[in-house]
Amino acid sequence: MPVQDGNALAGPLSEVFAVEVTSAWRLCPGCGTDSTVGALRVYTMGTAAVARCPHCGEIAFRLARHAETLWLDFGGGGALRIPVTG
Ligand SMILES: [Zn+2]
Repeated sequence: MPVQDGNALAGPLSEVFAVEVTSAWRLCPGCGTDSTVGALRVYTMGTAAVARCPHCGEIAFRLARHAETLWLDFGGGGALRIPVTG
């Protein structure tokens, strides 16, 4: 299987992150509940937020904004550090 660097994902990821993310579905690995991102329970503190399953409370992801960087942490799946403006 050929190996490419992450730039090979520029096209597919631009489609994923260009949509309204709150309508995206998530399957909770903790309890099996299907829910949209918009249905998650979100706890915020300053510029950070934790999104949790509305049924069992398992963490779906963490989001933190610091200066011009946005961290999106999926726990065991690692984290994305995304440059942002403003
Ligand atoms: Zn759950």
